[in-house]
Amino acid sequence: MSSEANPFESLREQVDEAAAVVDADPGVIERLKNPERVLETNLTFERDDGSLETVRAYRSQFNGDRGPYKGGIRYHPGVTRDEVKALSGWMAYKCAVVDVPYGGGKGGIAIDPADYSESELERITRAFATELRPMIGEDRDIPAPDVNTGQQEMNWIKDTYETLENTTAPGVITGKAIDSGGSEGRVEATGRSVALSTREAFDWLGRDLSGASVAVQGYGNAGSVAAKLLGDLGADVVAVSDSSGGILDRDGLDARDVKAHKSETGSVTGYPGAESITNDELLTLDVDCLVPAALENAVDGDLAPDVAADLIVEAANGPLTPDADDVLAGRDIHVIPDILANAGGVTVSYFEWVQNRQRFSWTEERVNEELERVITGAFDTLVDTYESNEVDDMRTAAYVVGIGRIVDAYDQAGNWP
Ligand code: GLU
Repeated sequence: MSSEANPFESLREQVDEAAAVVDADPGVIERLKNPERVLETNLTFERDDGSLETVRAYRSQFNGDRGPYKGGIRYHPGVTRDEVKALSGWMAYKCAVVDVPYGGGKGGIAIDPADYSESELERITRAFATELRPMIGEDRDIPAPDVNTGQQEMNWIKDTYETLENTTAPGVITGKAIDSGGSEGRVEATGRSVALSTREAFDWLGRDLSGASVAVQGYGNAGSVAAKLLGDLGADVVAVSDSSGGILDRDGLDARDVKAHKSETGSVTGYPGAESITNDELLTLDVDCLVPAALENAVDGDLAPDVAADLIVEAANGPLTPDADDVLAGRDIHVIPDILANAGGVTVSYFEWVQNRQRFSWTEERVNEELERVITGAFDTLVDTYESNEVDDMRTAAYVVGIGRIVDAYDQAGNWP
């Protein structure tokens, strides 16, 4: 695993693959393979010992043809300009696939948050929010959580923005804590759409999810919630992992209990009664369904021949390289792509933003019902596209739908100036 594939090149290949069957001007397709603009900035902040440190940060605004730029901010040492550009593109296509009225954006800071205290992270976050202030806004660009960020970071960004702008603008960011204007159901939304997509995929393929074996790579917000909800739907989650390693129990793991163990010890490893496995062993386990829920490039062209699952549902963004896709399509292994399967996060972000604009809160039940409607509707659209087009896989079907919607918006506005 951990192939060297450049995620931005992967995105461009994915777009090209679908563009071959979309009727669009090549100049417009080229536009849809590049971000509109990228902020690259250096944040200087004070460490707790009084010394100063400078870290690199980015925000890519990929495409705004369908609405304000939208997408998370990640804190990870592997953050690069190209990674953020790719992630922003995946957001644009994701928003189009589930038809929420946003474009795509993404941001990141190249740090390992474990190296910093909470007050240092607050200073880093507020420094980034200050740099972002001119380019974000409720109708301009709306960040959200991503890898290693959550409600706390969102609350700091909202507060920094509102203080500097001397206004209230809760819709400038989503994924906030409930008391800061967050939405019910937002924390679980990504994992919920992964579970819903898996349920729909089993149904489509005529397989029974009840009793099916599932392996989940990555046990952060997406992976742990997906594991829990898949267990609730009757699947047997037999293996899970995080960056320290994996655990296997063929009789099934209790996802809630594994989460409690990770909260206590910092990792899923060492979970009592389970066998230790590596991440590569997990990715090649003989299971009915594999859910990669960590980072990009988890399965590359070298590992793909060894994948033994019948179905892959992508909870992470970009976990399969284009080379892996080719191998898997050749082996008739279906892949439910990230830009559908993990779109629950941005869908409920959209609901949060709508509630912020309305100054009115929905119940968790309403959020989950509307989310289910969006994800199952988008799933059906992709299946129709897959079955009626000359495309090899569900990812290409998703790009055909996404590109089509963005191109329509662009054409309707006209090219100007
Ligand atoms: N970071 C999440 C994603 O990759 C959510 C983005 C959002 O809510 O705007 O889809």
